[in-house]
Amino acid sequence: MDLKEKLLPYLRTVPDYPVPGILFWDVTTLFKDPEAFRTVVDATYELYKDKGITKVVGIESRGFVVGAALAYRLGAGFVPARKPGKLPAACWSASYDKEYGKDRIEMHQDALEKGDVVLIHDDVLATGGTAEAVGRLVERYAPAAVYCNFIIELEGLGGREKMPAGLDITALLHL
Ligand code: AMP
Repeated sequence: MDLKEKLLPYLRTVPDYPVPGILFWDVTTLFKDPEAFRTVVDATYELYKDKGITKVVGIESRGFVVGAALAYRLGAGFVPARKPGKLPAACWSASYDKEYGKDRIEMHQDALEKGDVVLIHDDVLATGGTAEAVGRLVERYAPAAVYCNFIIELEGLGGREKMPAGLDITALLHL
């Protein structure tokens, strides 16, 4: 059985959430199933186990779940990229357009170090605004390499095209 066959039954779609016209892919139904959750973490671990990842940057909030499990498995540190005003110490901030509105994302200024090998992780790549903004933040720290991973890539929304050319992007499911 391939990954798509295995994981798709655990995803819930919610029409018109959070605003009319958006079909929302809900990963909480996947996270709550022990086998499906383990499959996501293990399959992603396999993709990055030999890359020398030193930090996993998880995007608030659904990116924290698999991001933290991955950091543990990879022997890397975990860094949260959070919505404005949530992190207590000095931050870098980047603004972006999303599928439903404008937003900003922040990271602590001391979250990464020069030379880190960074894996950015989120649940869904939609229009790519969020991950592109996090990518911009991560570049400020002069990392040695940057990778980007999602559980789901929603194809046809232009997300991949918005990311910097040449950035290594993977997704477990292409929907
Ligand atoms: P984007 O910046 O458009 O790529 O949006 C990505 C962020 O918004 C991720 O953190 C997703 O969790 C969330 N998101 C955007 N669109 C959807 C969608 N259709 N279904 C589920 N999550 C979404």
